[in-house]
Amino acid sequence: MRAFNDGKPYHGTDAVTDGKLTGATDGTDYFYFFCPKCPNKRLLRPLEYTVRAREESHPYADHVDVVAPEGFTLAFRLLCDHCLFTDFVKVSNMGWQGGTHDEAMSRTSQ
Ligand SMILES: [Zn+2]
Repeated sequence: MRAFNDGKPYHGTDAVTDGKLTGATDGTDYFYFFCPKCPNKRLLRPLEYTVRAREESHPYADHVDVVAPEGFTLAFRLLCDHCLFTDFVKVSNMGWQGGTHDEAMSRTSQ
């Protein structure tokens, strides 16, 4: 089986942290990330993904009313075909996700 990112370490850069990576759905339920370097919400293309972490029980099960069936973290490598920007993003339910985006930013900013 081929290794994600050819087995090299991966972590999103300053180009995607602190709210700089955004996106939206199209007319369906598919979600698209926008290139943070190009104007006009140019779409990033997910090149590959990996299941970075998986837990049988959700780590915040004792703190929420609706418990996720499992904990997971997915990582994606994204590419802009226009400017060749490439970076990583993770989608996870294993960190605390209550409250607002501003509160999440204050929890995670260094
Ligand atoms: Zn771009």
